[in-house]
Amino acid sequence: MRLKTLASLLLAGTLSASMLVYAKEPVNLAFIKKDLKHYHDSGEYDHDISSMMQQAMRYLEMRIDQGKFHGKKPAIVLDIDETSLSNYPDMVRLDFGGTLEEIRQDEDKGEDEAIAPTLKLYRYAKANQIAVFFITGRQEEEREVTEKNLKKAGYVNHDGLILRAGEYKKAPASVYKIAMRKQLADQGYDILLNIGDQKSDLRGGYADKTYKLPNPYYHIP
Ligand SMILES: [Mg+2]
Repeated sequence: MRLKTLASLLLAGTLSASMLVYAKEPVNLAFIKKDLKHYHDSGEYDHDISSMMQQAMRYLEMRIDQGKFHGKKPAIVLDIDETSLSNYPDMVRLDFGGTLEEIRQDEDKGEDEAIAPTLKLYRYAKANQIAVFFITGRQEEEREVTEKNLKKAGYVNHDGLILRAGEYKKAPASVYKIAMRKQLADQGYDILLNIGDQKSDLRGGYADKTYKLPNPYYHIP
């Protein structure tokens, strides 16, 4: 009887072990979110932004020292979200999700804080008579709140805030942003630097040099 019990226990054990068959699957979303928070909370995210912005700063200093702007007005272009202003607290609150509507509502609170190394570069550019333009994927309807937020965060006296309007309201970010940089070039600006957190901020030329900041939190085509 005891042997029989032992045998049946062993059999049950073998069965349960052999039942642990795992599907080959991508990394679980919960772990990805944990990693994303760690990337931010450990300071790595800030460090990566700072080191990229230091390179951008060195390039800008060099261009200003050279003083060669090809007979044009020197300018730089900055993206807003996750480049000049941070939405990180809202992203965490929405658990890295949320509808477009919810994300827009958060933007429209106008309380996003400056990304410090970008603000430093902004101030340096302004102090050296370099025009600074913001080209953002935010909509024209968000102009007032975005202006207020930029000012509150320290981005004062910029040279232009360009938002999505008209035919560009629904165009891919890259198409819209290239067209806006072309407009600046047509107005006689030499865009020394273009900085964004998405490849779609930077593709397509009309800038002497581009720098991409890290953003593992969302993707804008
Ligand atoms: Mg952005």
